[in-house]
Order: sequence, then C-alpha cells, then structure tokens
Amino acid sequence: MDLTSDRYHRQKLMPEWNQELFSSSHVLVLGVGALGTYVSTNLTLAGIGKLTLVDFDTIEMSNLNRQLLFSIDDVGKNKADVAAEKLRMLNPDVQIVPFPKDMRKLTSAQLADVSAIASCLDTFRGRRWANSLAVRERKPMVSGGMYGFLGNVQTIIPYETPCFECQPLISQEKLSQACSPLGDARKDLLEEKTEPPIPSVSTLSSIIGGLMSQELIKLIMGIGKPIQNYLFYDGLHGAFTTIKLKRNENCPMCGTKFNVETQEILAFENELVKDLRHRIALALGLASPILMSKGKILTDNDTMTLAEGEKIFVSDERLAKPIALKIVYEKN
Ligand SMILES: [Zn+2]
Repeated sequence: MDLTSDRYHRQKLMPEWNQELFSSSHVLVLGVGALGTYVSTNLTLAGIGKLTLVDFDTIEMSNLNRQLLFSIDDVGKNKADVAAEKLRMLNPDVQIVPFPKDMRKLTSAQLADVSAIASCLDTFRGRRWANSLAVRERKPMVSGGMYGFLGNVQTIIPYETPCFECQPLISQEKLSQACSPLGDARKDLLEEKTEPPIPSVSTLSSIIGGLMSQELIKLIMGIGKPIQNYLFYDGLHGAFTTIKLKRNENCPMCGTKFNVETQEILAFENELVKDLRHRIALALGLASPILMSKGKILTDNDTMTLAEGEKIFVSDERLAKPIALKIVYEKN
C-alpha cells in the first residue's frame, strides 16, 4: 500500500497512536463557538469516528474574529449546522451530527455511545450543566474557558478526578449570592441571564482549543497522562500553571458523603415554598429544583408547614440523584 495516500499516515507514525480506536469513537461537542470550532476541526482532521455538535445559537458578525469555520455568508445561520457542513468537506470519513437545539434537550440515547465530552461553553451556567451531564452519564469531559489572553483547561473523569463542582473556581461574587438575604432583586437570578460579552481573540481560541483536543485524543486512546486537573494559561506572559484540585466528599455532584449524610437547610416559619426553592437553587447552583416531601411535590404558592427536622428531597436536571435536606427553622 502506498502510505502517502493514507490520510492518517503521519499520525500513525506515533507508536502510541491507535487510529482504529480513534475512528470508532464519538465526541460530544457542547458549544460550537470559538473553542468548539477549533476542537471539532482538530478531531475531524485526525479522523474521529463521530462528532455531535450542539449549539442552538446563530452566527453573528462579532463571532468571525475567532470562530474558525464561519464566514460572512454564514451570519444568521445556526452554528452547529454550518460547522457540520464545513467539517464534512474537511473529512468525509467523519460522521457529523448537528444538534441545533438547547443542549438540555439531548436524550440519553444520543449520549449512549459518547466516548468523551468537550465542554466549549462560554457561561458558568452552561459549564455547570455540562459537568452534571458528564457526572450523571459517567463520561470523561474536557472543559475549556477563556478570558482575553487568559485561558484554562480542566479534565474531568467522573468519580476519579475532581469535577467542576468539587472545588468551583468561580468568583466570590457568584458564590456569595446564595448567602445574601432573599429579596425580589435576587429572584430573577434563576432566570436565563446572558452574561456580558467576554473579551476574546483567535490566538487564545486556537491554543486552548488545541490543548482541549490533545486531552480528548489522549483520553480516547488511553495514552499519556491527563492534565492534573486544571491548567491555567497566561498568554500575556507565556506561562502555564497547573493547579491540582481535590475531590470533595461533600460535592453535590460527585461527592460520596453529600448523598449519604443529610445536609441542613434554613427555612422560615410560614414562608412560601417558592422562596425556599429559590434559596435552595442558589445555594446548590441548581437550575429548577423540584422539592418533595412525604412523596408529594411541594407547590410553589403553598406555605411551609413541615416540622423542624423533617426532610425534603430535592431533584433537578443537574443532580445525578435526589438529595435530602433537613429543615431547620430560623429562631428569632
Ligand atoms: Zn464533584
């Protein structure tokens, strides 16, 4: 066989490279923007078996400075659809499945044969949801983030390495929201809120997208050593810093203790269920928790009538299984 006619000849020269395994693997790409277009391009060129591209967003003019695969004629079109079309031209061997909808609409069947997840999202809310999906489905995930010349990559192998929630590297402002008194101003925090635009440049997208692709390739083929566990890149100073995070036994996503030992939640006599629900959502970072007690779903406009020490069960799309919270009333 003429080796030069083999598309993958040069990568097969690496003794650890397993093209057969790689070409039968499936990567779920969440977010097809700056990072997602670089990650999916790299995996397509290397001949991944299948890519599912998830993004319900449309292409805007302001995306074109850093989002590979998109051009001016694509403005207004869906990102997943356009990326799928371009990637098929790059390598027709790869099965590309666009999913131009909200990622929360993915079904278990669509995830069944996924080998790894690439979280290429630009909001904390989205990344936290992706993490819950990875933990629930027990799929390894590589998550990337960028801010100007700064970037980070985190590799998460559920129940083996720390997940995104074990030691959340999120701003104090976001963490403290759950501790401030409940008021009308805070209630809208649960609504979908768009975060302000993030300063971004193509060089960072290609570096962080490249690092993420490398991690995915290693995870899929089981070669090398995954990033332990959080890699921070300062592009202005050309410095890489690795931060070793710890698994947290009290983590609401993957902690063993959290699910075994009942945590307490402060309630107020005669408050509306709705208010307690908002507080639980903020405290645990949940999207829309459902509260249950004694086998019944608590209705938002009911007042809290549970006795001190009684348990409520909280379920949410982000939780692998319901968690129990013990009611403790505020003493005046
Ligand atoms: Zn965790």
